[in-house]
Amino acid sequence: MYSAYDNEFKKISINDAVAGQTYFCPTCKKKLFVRVGERKRPHFCHYRNESCIDYWKYDESEWSDKWKSSFSNDEVEIVHYEHHIDIEVKNNLGIMFSSTSMHRDTFIEKTNYMLSNINNAMWLFNLTDLYKKGIIDPKRDRVIWRNIWKMFSDYPYVDRNVWIVIEIAVKGISWFGILKDIDRSYDEKTLYIRRWHKEEQFRQYFNDIADKKDPEEPYVEEEERQRKLKEEADEKARVEREKQETAEKRRLEELERQRKEEREALLKKQQEDKEKEAALLQKQKEDAEKEAIKQEEAKRNYVLQCYANDPGMKQMSDKLSKLEKLGRIWEFSHLADEWNKKYGFPWLYSEFYH
Ligand SMILES: [Zn+2]
Repeated sequence: MYSAYDNEFKKISINDAVAGQTYFCPTCKKKLFVRVGERKRPHFCHYRNESCIDYWKYDESEWSDKWKSSFSNDEVEIVHYEHHIDIEVKNNLGIMFSSTSMHRDTFIEKTNYMLSNINNAMWLFNLTDLYKKGIIDPKRDRVIWRNIWKMFSDYPYVDRNVWIVIEIAVKGISWFGILKDIDRSYDEKTLYIRRWHKEEQFRQYFNDIADKKDPEEPYVEEEERQRKLKEEADEKARVEREKQETAEKRRLEELERQRKEEREALLKKQQEDKEKEAALLQKQKEDAEKEAIKQEEAKRNYVLQCYANDPGMKQMSDKLSKLEKLGRIWEFSHLADEWNKKYGFPWLYSEFYH
């Protein structure tokens, strides 16, 4: 035990007790002595033959003693009937400490005891050893705990007035996780943590509960504010994105329109070119035909002229029928080019004669 009455009925803590003096149990009022051992810290003890009416086991670790010593004596180990509550803050919040697991029934019994004597009940569990042994794995918003204590896996409370807090000291700094929920759906059980507090914030937290303030409220407000800010930012981003998407869509449409125009212009030009080319080819063909006719006529005229100017030819011609003349002229006209190339023009006539 951490507290006792001295012989003036004044409540004192073990830190102020003197070995050898007589003290009295706050619960059963029987005599106590200060036990000083080499391995254990000093504590108040009932005499061997005088058992206490309080059969409960309390956390008597150095950790809980340290916590108790941070409160005034009239807040520590407050007796109601045959038990006590480890800490009572402002007569409105009871806090019980535990460094170990306990039977689920004990857990429920003690919690109900707190709730029947005071408005709000809080459990503070010291899990630092489990953390050091690597049994629990604390994360930002949860603690993963293999082989979770059965009292947690059967955690019965959804009561608004019961708080479960776990304390884990990491590199000498204590973190206090306010339990939000327990997920029992996996082998690796998960404790969901509302948030982690350092000691000062945690004290503020339970003082708020004791002051009948909602300790979650500022966080709820803050969370709400953050949520709104995020929503606004999201909305802004969405509008901006939409604007960009619309602009991009317009740009693509414009690009597509330009490409279509260019394609149409190109097709039109190609069609025109084709038509021009066809017209040109047609003209060239016509010109070539005209030229061929012209050349044919020129040849004929030339031969006829040669024929008219040559007396020998004229003589022979007179003997030939008109049909034969035409035949000769025709024949001649076909040979004329070749002969002309082969012999030069003056030879043409002599060849013709022979
Ligand atoms: Zn007693």
